Amino acid sequence: MIGKSEIIFNEMSNIVGDGRARNDMFERRVYSHDLGSFPKLFDMMFNFKPDCIVKPESSDEISKIVKFASKERVAIIPRGGASWGMSGAIPIEGGIILDMTHMSNVLEIDGDNLIVTTEGGITWKDLYEKVEAKGYMIGSYPSSAPSATVAGWINTGGIGTGSYKYGGAGDNIRALEVVLPNGNIVNTGSKYTLQSGSGYDLNQIFVGAEGTLGVITKATLRIFPKDEFRPLSYLFPDLKTLSKAVQGLTRSDATPLNISFADNNHFGFLRELGHGDAPDGSMLNIALEGPEELIDYEEGVLDRITKGAKKESVELSMHEWDERSYELRAKRLGPSAILGEAFVPTTRMDEAIDHIYTLIKKMKLKAAITGMVPDRNSVVFMPYYLTDERKLIKSMVSLGFMGKLAGIGFKDGGRPSGLGLFFAYNLKKLHGGVAYGTMHDLKSSLDPCDIMNPGKLTEGQTRFGFPLPGAVLPLGMSVMKLVKGILPKDK
Ligand SMILES: Cc1cc2nc3c(=O)[nH]c(=O)nc-3n(C[C@H](O)[C@H](O)[C@H](O)COP(=O)(O)OP(=O)(O)OC[C@H]3O[C@@H](n4cnc5c(N)ncnc54)[C@H](O)[C@@H]3O)c2cc1C
Repeated sequence: MIGKSEIIFNEMSNIVGDGRARNDMFERRVYSHDLGSFPKLFDMMFNFKPDCIVKPESSDEISKIVKFASKERVAIIPRGGASWGMSGAIPIEGGIILDMTHMSNVLEIDGDNLIVTTEGGITWKDLYEKVEAKGYMIGSYPSSAPSATVAGWINTGGIGTGSYKYGGAGDNIRALEVVLPNGNIVNTGSKYTLQSGSGYDLNQIFVGAEGTLGVITKATLRIFPKDEFRPLSYLFPDLKTLSKAVQGLTRSDATPLNISFADNNHFGFLRELGHGDAPDGSMLNIALEGPEELIDYEEGVLDRITKGAKKESVELSMHEWDERSYELRAKRLGPSAILGEAFVPTTRMDEAIDHIYTLIKKMKLKAAITGMVPDRNSVVFMPYYLTDERKLIKSMVSLGFMGKLAGIGFKDGGRPSGLGLFFAYNLKKLHGGVAYGTMHDLKSSLDPCDIMNPGKLTEGQTRFGFPLPGAVLPLGMSVMKLVKGILPKDK
């Protein structure tokens, strides 16, 4: 008898043809992971293996796939570069993974109207290089730009390089093309002008939706004239002294393109890897952009604010800028590394630093803190720890760090960023009960059969037909943290 996977595969092959649908076991295993790792225990609760992987090349193909999935109640999981690591791009009940990376064409760079229209599966690096070649620049993009896709970043509602001046993933969107859960193709927004006036802002409901409301196939984004650019790096004795400069900077009249930082541990790891010239201290990296007179003025402001720190050479500052997409260079020491994220108000940066270091110490992790300042009010900590997934128990209990980091976010007046599968229980805490209910209503009105990336953001069912009880995961994270603290220290 022909199985479910085979039926889906045959239907997908009819729609996309020429080998762009796959259901062999190797491929299904590869696509049951993203960048993150989760305890094997969860294999018992969810079916992470897709029935079929499809690489669509047009919105019409996706529309046909989604119409089939809607009729047959099969899950659709949109996937970009799979660099998010929150299990956002993997199934929980099998289904069809849409690997969007074949939809990577830039359709139009319109310098007169300062917009670019692109397919959603292009990486940010490919996009900004193409835009820069025409004399323009993209406002902001994730530091994972070499692998992160345009639609993937929009769906995580992220912040990134350039956010201090140009905002996050949602701030430069003019319009999107989205395939809805019923297969209809909708154009949101207004291509040439600001989205304002009457009407619901459909662009924004897809920002941070984690692929649960539709598949983004195209995006029209604002671009900007390319101007002068100057990276600057300042070395501080430690992260707490650096934090004082961040407070001063966010209260000054300078508006850099980008502000990021990395602590002493990060550079210590690089030295361990043989980068003998890696500095000894915590580094504040700032990128200035604009007319030369403005950059000169802002550099003066920065020099005053960072008085006492060591101002690094032009070459080293440029090197730090070139390294902006390689925060996990120390990964090889692990040989794996897991990256977490928590937002806190700028005014609570000091407390959060203390809390994160205390957690690292208690859990005996080999970890470093990197981060960004995406606007005047917020700091994003992106600490990472080194781990070895071959050491099953140790690597599993180390994951408790992620849950505890989310807790630090809440405790210090901020919040965790993404939810994905395992942090979906935080949705209510993040937004409050009424907003939580409204989001569920929105999801079920657009996707009544819950076919679009089920289980992410709004919680899903386990194999046993009931959701993970809300208290289980935080409790599990606390137990993992305790067990990790008992095990020998990571070397
Ligand atoms: C070293 C490193 C640095 C990072 N730096 C940053 C950073 O600066 N800022 C930041 O925000 N994040 C950062 N991240 C996290 C991650 O890279 C980003 O969230 C990235 O934008 C995800 O894009 P992706 O294409 O890999 O998405 P994926 O991981 O493939 O998917 C993410 C989510 O989007 C959904 N999705 C993907 N494509 C579509 C689509 N076409 N339509 C609908 N839904 C879709 C998926 O279902 C999933 O829920 C970093 C990660 C690493 C490892």
